[in-house]
Amino acid sequence: MRIPMIAGNWKMNTTVSEAIALVNEMRQPLDEIDGVDKVVCPPFVSLAAVYGAVKGSSVRLGAQNLYFKEKGAYTGEISPLMLADLCEIVIIGHSERRQFFDDTDEVVNNKIKAALKVGLKPILCVGEKLEDNEAGKTEEVVTGQLGSSLAGIDYSTSLIVAYEPIWAIGTGKAATSQQANDIIGLIRRNISQLYGGEAAGELRILYGGSVNGANATELMQQPEIDGALVGGASLKAEEFLSIVRQTSAIR
Ligand code: PEP
Repeated sequence: MRIPMIAGNWKMNTTVSEAIALVNEMRQPLDEIDGVDKVVCPPFVSLAAVYGAVKGSSVRLGAQNLYFKEKGAYTGEISPLMLADLCEIVIIGHSERRQFFDDTDEVVNNKIKAALKVGLKPILCVGEKLEDNEAGKTEEVVTGQLGSSLAGIDYSTSLIVAYEPIWAIGTGKAATSQQANDIIGLIRRNISQLYGGEAAGELRILYGGSVNGANATELMQQPEIDGALVGGASLKAEEFLSIVRQTSAIR
């Protein structure tokens, strides 16, 4: 039985005071919803403040990225050890990191290893570009990203995967529930080949890309989809709560 997860990726939004206000607005209502792992991923500078705000509640804290070295002369970077003090979860390989900050599959692979080493739960993001999708290469791209990102990594129950088609992120154009379910099924088959059927059966695989209060039920009803990574809608308390409530009502 896979417990669904709804994770809000706040991206580069919210000042510290805005982050505190947002989490304070959501914490209690989120705490009242059962059967769903609820995660917020604020910017690095707000992690400590949000950590304080969610402490003692069922809301979990995640980061949006990390650097794979433990410590040292890497000006401006944040290490896995620093995050492990505050967070349970970390998003790795988000398409915006891959696109704007050169997070190649090799970098992503190193980051996953580094996260697991300190006990963080990585949400590994994979997904195809619009042109790959239109050229019928979705399965090939996603399979390649998974294999390279997980190369040399033993299966861990901490691992979470998110399928995020790039053409659906921040565009308002979500994948259809059938498309998302099919590709997540493919990811599960890949995981089965890499790590065996038991791992594939327990791994949580989220969908991400324009999830909102209007499409959450339809997406979350799909048998392969174990939750959502939510960008824009996670910045609006009512919208995020609606997604979490709808997910809870299904399971
Ligand atoms: C994301 O950033 O991971 C995402 C899915 O964004 P959005 O929900 O805005 O499409």
